[in-house]
Amino acid sequence: MAAETIAARGGRALVFERMPSPARKFLMAGRGGLNLTHSEPMPGFCRHYGAAEPALSAAIEAFPPSALMDWAEGLGQPLFTGSSGRVFPKAMKASPLLRAWLARLAAAGVEIRTRHDWLGFSPDGGLRFATPEGEIAAHPAAMVLALGGASWPRLGADGGWVSCLSDVPVAPLRPANMGFRIDWSAHLVERFAGTPLKRISLSFADQTRRGEAMLTRDGIEGGAVYALAAPLREAIAANGSCTLELDLRPDLEAAEVARRLAAPRRGQSLSAFLRKTIALAPVGIALVQEALHAGASQDTLPALVKAMPLRLTGTQGLDRAISSAGGISFGALDTRFMLRDRPGIFAAGEMLDWEAPTGGYLLQACFATGRAAGQGALDWLGETRKD
Ligand SMILES: Cc1cc2nc3c(=O)[nH]c(=O)nc-3n(C[C@H](O)[C@H](O)[C@H](O)COP(=O)(O)OP(=O)(O)OC[C@H]3O[C@@H](n4cnc5c(N)ncnc54)[C@H](O)[C@@H]3O)c2cc1C
Repeated sequence: MAAETIAARGGRALVFERMPSPARKFLMAGRGGLNLTHSEPMPGFCRHYGAAEPALSAAIEAFPPSALMDWAEGLGQPLFTGSSGRVFPKAMKASPLLRAWLARLAAAGVEIRTRHDWLGFSPDGGLRFATPEGEIAAHPAAMVLALGGASWPRLGADGGWVSCLSDVPVAPLRPANMGFRIDWSAHLVERFAGTPLKRISLSFADQTRRGEAMLTRDGIEGGAVYALAAPLREAIAANGSCTLELDLRPDLEAAEVARRLAAPRRGQSLSAFLRKTIALAPVGIALVQEALHAGASQDTLPALVKAMPLRLTGTQGLDRAISSAGGISFGALDTRFMLRDRPGIFAAGEMLDWEAPTGGYLLQACFATGRAAGQGALDWLGETRKD
């Protein structure tokens, strides 16, 4: 996005990418339909960036969801807005958009050099790259770093840049929008790992999120979990574990669940009773049975259905997280995303110290900061050349 911004104003932009092809994580995001942005209006939209809102809102207001949508449609990708307000390409994948974008960048003179792994700075302030032909140096007039966070490292972004910027304050990279560990029984894992929990809600502290989750071999993941991931992660960091409450029937009032479960069981097995009275899915029934085996009393059945305590013992690693928290501290950047102590070097995207829930907020902030950093680089070059 920075390169497109620079090229659109007549600048010459060169993109160095360590992988054999660019935008692998963008393509991976397309596997889930490519939730490009969210239709929520300002200023509510920017509140999703939490503590980073003041640092990001100017860039997002300058390139808001409507502009990102126009941009994608301008690349020949019709979009639709789902009932949740999330915005997707109708193609529900990233590859056609990426193809059209790369073609437009090439036509604008942007050159992409793949298999160029940035190693850091040379003593003269140049950039060192490892390439298949050996190490090379580059001395651009300005540089925009957009090296990503550290989730899904096999797609290219592994956070290795932190050691190249040892003089820059960086908040530790931590998983965001990730799953959590739960010690399930071997029986539950064998039968239900990989099974979705549909139309549930999850609560932690004073927040409740409806949606879906999925049981994994070592815990739980999915949209409703990611929406609470930041406070859960902080609670686990502070206390070693925390308890998430699962509501298996959020559309039924607790009193109604209690009323139905007070009906005589008439010799039915627990599983048949739960299925018939409150239509629990097999995975929900298995979770109730797991809680009973762990010592919960049959008298607490309604509470188990409406607020089953799940003890989270840790976070899943960065390798499976959707995004990462942490990154270059905003205090190290000026308002145009230039490193205060390294004039001419800008930074954008997930490598900055912000996090946001899924819903399109991640890509929106990456696009908007990429554009702002590209514009910042052009402005700075204009000023220094005048001097
Ligand atoms: C499975 C999955 C699904 C997702 N779905 C969505 C979604 O639907 N909506 C949404 O908003 N977000 C989604 N995201 C998050 C989103 O994809 C990222 O936040 C976004 O791609 C980050 O963009 P970025 O440009 O900052 O970093 P990246 O996309 O990670 O790009 C950084 C690039 O820098 C390169 N690089 C890193 N280090 C070096 C180096 N030393 N030298 C040269 N090149 C280097 C990497 O190879 C990489 O290509 C998803 C993420 C995952 C993992």
